[in-house]
Amino acid sequence: MHQIVADARASGATVGCIPTMGYLHDGHASLIRAASKKHRLVVVSIFVNPTQFGPSEDFERYPRNLDHDLKVVAEAGGAVVFAPTVEEMYPDGARSTIHIPQISEILEGASRPTHFDGVATVVSRLFEAMHPDEAFFGQKDLQQTLVIEHMVSASEIDDVRNVTVTVLPTQREHNGLARSSRNVYLTAEDREDATAIYRALTGASEKMADGENSRANIEAAMRRTLDSVSGLTVDYAVAVEASTLQTKDLFISGEQVALLIAVRLGRTRLIDNMVVKMP
Ligand code: AMP
Repeated sequence: MHQIVADARASGATVGCIPTMGYLHDGHASLIRAASKKHRLVVVSIFVNPTQFGPSEDFERYPRNLDHDLKVVAEAGGAVVFAPTVEEMYPDGARSTIHIPQISEILEGASRPTHFDGVATVVSRLFEAMHPDEAFFGQKDLQQTLVIEHMVSASEIDDVRNVTVTVLPTQREHNGLARSSRNVYLTAEDREDATAIYRALTGASEKMADGENSRANIEAAMRRTLDSVSGLTVDYAVAVEASTLQTKDLFISGEQVALLIAVRLGRTRLIDNMVVKMP
């Protein structure tokens, strides 16, 4: 990987990278297409990162299919695929990890206590391996993008600190369901139930467009939509200030507000979000 990047850089290329866990879909493809427009060398990493899964989570059953992934990459315009093994990424057995305080500890971090340490650690190591100028992430994982931005700006490693982090919009299915590798776990009935997530987000954003600025009312509206689906359990459904994910009671005109939802459908956990500017 180092040699490919060094050769490309020597010939004047810039490098864009897309870190993924594979089982690629159109959300990933949109990031590959965007990177290809800006960089002559595009690297897609495919690595199901064990350190970001909790002990009772789905690391073992997480979907994997490299042949399928190579086809998606080719259809998106092609890229170098970097698919390291666990031993290559963690020759030390992951004894040293990166912890980004505060932002890693709320919401997803509260439900999945070691998750963002695993994310920050693996993305730092992937940046060292791929040495990109720019890295592309999806807004689908909004809190993750904030953790990564903090990790990059706090890093003492040049190959990490100099990376530009770019966040691009969430790609959705026709019914609004955010594309996710985990959607493969869903039954037809689950998929129908899961559309409540997008309905809750759009319903709340419409209320905000009509002037609703009370956090409690916005969150209650999302809850009503989600609670109307019996097969779905809400982990959180919150309205928070978008750049810090901190809670506040009233949002002011012009403020960017993040609506964040996490639910469980059977054994599957899904997250989604929308960022709304208060009118
Ligand atoms: P993952 O393979 O799930 O770790 O995701 C790899 C990257 O793709 C992350 O930056 C995700 O935010 C992004 N991504 C995942 N799903 C989507 C989506 N539906 N739309 C846009 N980006 C996505």
